[in-house]
Amino acid sequence: MPVAKTHVPDPRVLSLGDAFYDVAVPARFPRRELRYRNDRAAADVGLETLGPEEWEAHFARFEPLPGNLPSPLALRYHGHQFGVYNPELGDGRGFLFAQVRDDNGRLLDLGTKGTGTTPWSRRGDGRLTLKGGVREILATEMLEALGVKTSRTLSLFETGEQLWRGDEPSPTRSSVLVRLGHSHVRFGTFQRLAHANARKGDVEALRRLLDYSVEIYFPDLKATEGDERVVRFLDRVVSASARLCAEWMTAGFCHGVLNTDNMTITGDSFDYGPYRFVPTFDPDFVAAYFDESGLYRFGAQPKTVHWNLGRLAEALRPLAPTAALGAPLASYEDRYDEALADRTLERLGVGSRDPDTDGALARAAFAFLDSSAIGFERFFFDLHGASESRLSRSPARDLYDGPRWTDLADLLALYAPRTSRDVDHPYFSGDGPTTLLIDEIESIWSAIAARDDFAPLEEKVRRIREAGDALGLRRGL
Ligand code: AMP
Ligand code: MG
Repeated sequence: MPVAKTHVPDPRVLSLGDAFYDVAVPARFPRRELRYRNDRAAADVGLETLGPEEWEAHFARFEPLPGNLPSPLALRYHGHQFGVYNPELGDGRGFLFAQVRDDNGRLLDLGTKGTGTTPWSRRGDGRLTLKGGVREILATEMLEALGVKTSRTLSLFETGEQLWRGDEPSPTRSSVLVRLGHSHVRFGTFQRLAHANARKGDVEALRRLLDYSVEIYFPDLKATEGDERVVRFLDRVVSASARLCAEWMTAGFCHGVLNTDNMTITGDSFDYGPYRFVPTFDPDFVAAYFDESGLYRFGAQPKTVHWNLGRLAEALRPLAPTAALGAPLASYEDRYDEALADRTLERLGVGSRDPDTDGALARAAFAFLDSSAIGFERFFFDLHGASESRLSRSPARDLYDGPRWTDLADLLALYAPRTSRDVDHPYFSGDGPTTLLIDEIESIWSAIAARDDFAPLEEKVRRIREAGDALGLRRGL
């Protein structure tokens, strides 16, 4: 069957003009074997009706979707990588394939990973390993279940090539992934246009990118103009980024590579490389083996996001006075704290009281997580909906003791469950929380690598979705 009636193509990126992208030619793969098809995500954009052959034609051979981009576009961008400015970035192994409206009328992007080389590939092969694809499926499913605004994995095909990688036993298997994201406008997309070596006329291009971003992603700012528009735009990005960071911290998620090209203006979590979930709250936890100084360690994420926002603000300087851009930046910490309180309450499954008490509860929860070294997900599972009976049955019950626990318990006593449905869900009378720690990811991968057995991956996705239903935090893109 073709696309559903609810499918609305809208390739607005073309209105930016060709200084923002390069036409890309998709790689031709020797084999195309479907390994994952996300019909839940597909249904949000009217693609769930595609038959197997159509799915393969669009998401493995990249034949254009009806009414969409006639050819894929490798997007241009720069960015700070580990604090160092790199003007040689850009989509080097992926491209923007299509833009579609979701059922709320919002414009979403279909982007790819592993579709072959582009003008921005440098020395890379433009490919994605199958293991990388599997890891991205797991990350996006888990983060979605935990209520993080994440890109969603729409499709993964295995593609029958042999790849060589320093961080996987090689040769290793290849894949191609399609992701559904809110936007692919990165901080680095703005940085490129403000770069010192930019050609004349790039201030005009910067303005065009800002207007496009407002028009599509922050349409309620359309009535603004001049400096006000620029400052209010930055203000929105600061809020979205503070919120995203609070979502990561309360999901125990360490992204691993928080470069400015891996952050979008819409505050999407995306681009899953060496990420890990923390087993226990540990500010010094480092996800990426190549992050030798621990720059992007778990506890540094809030500060890093702030720093990255500073780089975005710098890129906006040709459009507005520096002093005016300082105000939204200065509000970051307060917004982060507010979002952290909000999210901590959500994760504890309790309703809000007042900002002061909510903030105190969040601080007490993290102080306890830190001092007790309790399992990160175990904590939120045991305490969900402030249920006393679950605490007493928990294998971690001995940890619920001491002064930090008393502080937290006293505050929690003031709170009521958000809804009774949450507390009564069968998930919470089960053995324990669904987690996604590195050993389990490796064992899911081993089954695929050793026996071509995808059942553990499928079972894990099923379990994560079950947990997601119980938690009731899914917020979509
Ligand atoms: P990432 O670490 O995935 O955010 O990528 C950083 C930059 O390296 C981006 O410009 C990517 O497109 C590029 N890149 C990463 N892996 C490859 C690859 N295998 N082939 C070509 N370019 C790549
Ligand atoms: Mg990236």
